[in-house]
Amino acid sequence: MLRVGGGILAWAGALLLTATGVLAAEPIRVLIVDGQNNHGVWPKTTQIMKSYLQQSGRFTVDTATAAPQGGDPNFRPNFAAYQVVLSNFGHGAAPWPAETRESFEKFVRGGGGFVVIHAADNSFPDWVAYNEMIGLGGWGGRNEKSGPYVYFDRQGKLVRDESPGNGGNHGPQIEFPIIVRDREHPIVQGMPLEWLHAQDELYDKLRGPAKNMQILATAESRITGRHEPMLMTIQYGEGRVFHTPMGHAEYSQECVGFITCLLRGTEWAATGKVTIEIPADFPTAEKTSSRAAGK
Ligand code: ZN
Repeated sequence: MLRVGGGILAWAGALLLTATGVLAAEPIRVLIVDGQNNHGVWPKTTQIMKSYLQQSGRFTVDTATAAPQGGDPNFRPNFAAYQVVLSNFGHGAAPWPAETRESFEKFVRGGGGFVVIHAADNSFPDWVAYNEMIGLGGWGGRNEKSGPYVYFDRQGKLVRDESPGNGGNHGPQIEFPIIVRDREHPIVQGMPLEWLHAQDELYDKLRGPAKNMQILATAESRITGRHEPMLMTIQYGEGRVFHTPMGHAEYSQECVGFITCLLRGTEWAATGKVTIEIPADFPTAEKTSSRAAGK
């Protein structure tokens, strides 16, 4: 142990005791991948998510951006250098090079974390392993061949619905209540069991393989009358995946509920644990709460 000017600096495994005496975990290395997304706002949402992650002090963040159109043969991020990859790709993204797909599959299967935000669950409808990682997806020709619709019915029963039909839909953007369905999972533990999410698209009719998938929270769609999954975890090999279809635009991502799920979900995907606390300005059942990026 080294004493420096009254403070104490010491390495204890992955834990750093700082000069102020605060026990801080070593930052988690995050890679955000992006470059092709039907949401024109994507460069901004990447920056917003990057800043929320970094401001928490728990993460360091790099980005890897594919060429704006078509397959990019030079898109070859070194996934192995990170603990967790976050996708801000979207609908219509061109397939990654075969080697990049293989190295990403190896990364997650071997225990890497993966975070899926909003339209990232629209990407790569024909990539079998990717669809297993995200659990549920939408658009891109997804249908009954992709897997069941998965939701809670009005009685709170989990339904896997194999009926035919397209995957992926949403109504007009609204504020909507998020209902926590699993009180024990570290990502949602301590969260109000109902909280009001800021204006966003409420994805409905997602469908996919939904293997090894747990639904942590839902929102009732006015379109389907179903309680659609809003926070999900998927085990893929040794890897942990956190998936939220929330986060359409910057005002959706500025919701303190979204920010908290982003931080805790990313930490959990990387480490299997959550140390980030629920903040005091978390939304309530009656009131949304937003925090502008950079503030
Ligand atoms: Zn959207």
